[in-house]
Amino acid sequence: MISRSIRRFFVETWGCQMNELDSQRLAGQLMQLGILPVRDPAAADLVLLNSCSVREKAEQKVYSRLGSFRKLRRDRDAPLFIGLCGCVAQQEGERALARVPELDFVLGPARVGELREVLARRLAGERVVATGFPRERQFDFDAIARDGSHKGMVTVIEGCDKRCTFCIVPSTRGPERCRPLAEILAEVRHLLAYGFAEIELLGQTVNHWRDPERGLDFADLLDAVAGLPGVERLRFVTSYPRDFSSRMVERLARHPNICPYLHLPVQSGSDTVLRRMGRGYEVAAYLDLVREIRAARPGIALSTDFIVGFPGETEEEFARTLELVAEVRFAAVFAFCYSPRPGTASLRLGPPVARGEAEERLQRLLRLQDEIQRELNEERVGAVEEVVVTGWGREAGWLSGRTPCHRIVHFPGGSRPARPGSILRVPITRALAHSLVGGEPLLGSGSGTVSSP
Ligand code: SF4
Repeated sequence: MISRSIRRFFVETWGCQMNELDSQRLAGQLMQLGILPVRDPAAADLVLLNSCSVREKAEQKVYSRLGSFRKLRRDRDAPLFIGLCGCVAQQEGERALARVPELDFVLGPARVGELREVLARRLAGERVVATGFPRERQFDFDAIARDGSHKGMVTVIEGCDKRCTFCIVPSTRGPERCRPLAEILAEVRHLLAYGFAEIELLGQTVNHWRDPERGLDFADLLDAVAGLPGVERLRFVTSYPRDFSSRMVERLARHPNICPYLHLPVQSGSDTVLRRMGRGYEVAAYLDLVREIRAARPGIALSTDFIVGFPGETEEEFARTLELVAEVRFAAVFAFCYSPRPGTASLRLGPPVARGEAEERLQRLLRLQDEIQRELNEERVGAVEEVVVTGWGREAGWLSGRTPCHRIVHFPGGSRPARPGSILRVPITRALAHSLVGGEPLLGSGSGTVSSP
């Protein structure tokens, strides 16, 4: 019996929303066995490190964190089991077991649903490496310990078949695999029954989803999910620009409960850099798509990703990125310096831009974006936003939440209690570069209708 040897577990999560959901899946399987979560690894019998390998030095960071778990194990009398999960687990496999003798098992992202079997094998004496990409993956949505907040995440597509030259994801998360429509709808209904009003569909290239049996595409999936009674807010991430069809754009206009926010990574404003990245689109096509989306859904907030200092990026090419930022006026930008990842094609494109230069470009980009973001946020002052409460604010009595456009709002809770997931009407009083400040929620709050700004 696993729960006789393991009574408490601790999960540490690094990286993206896919990892967040995977951690909820790990926790859910353990809780079904009667094993309880703790916030302090020192109080656990099992610690899981759910790792991310998107950026440089990921492996070193993982080994250093495993080192602190080893120390924990040495310092206590009772046994402590240690598991490495996530993308670094897939990447390192047997190497991790050889390098860390105290490591009990390695569990790749496509094998998350097998935690119980892996633990049983470990308790029988085997040090297990469960990596690779089985055709049939276990996905039991009843065994997901939702984190109890406002949003229920649903994986619709796993892995990625694209070959962007900088990206390690296809080798850590494996080939693309879509879940059938019926399975997705069953999970969304399950979330609605548990009171989640906001649903987020997840995938590395979420809009490349196809129903494996019925030939439906992501536009059909949006129709099906947005049409379910009780879905007050629908989000999806991450969209691949080249796969965003006019049918999908039309759904943004058709369904008011699809949030007016879209994350559309462009990565660079230069066609020559995009070609070296293997992205499969040009800047003009991206801008056409932005115009089409904005015409279909006025007021929609767009966010994006940039990689700065990609191998061979010249100052002129970087200037195109600044021009694109100024032209599109994104609501948010996630920008990082290029990070060489093992096994990716970009390693053969020559040395990256010198670190200092790349950092300097990144700072220029972020300064420009901060100005734009502050201006966009200032436009919201005086408006009343429908804010979904996500948790407590930094000051006593304050709450935090998100607008339909995904802007963060901090506001005083007022006299009426509000739980995470409640939707309140909050007057916006002040704009900061990365968030808004609001006044007390207005009376009559609590409707779930989403309106575009
Ligand atoms: S689309 Fe490109 S960047 Fe995104 S996960 Fe796939 S390979 Fe990586």
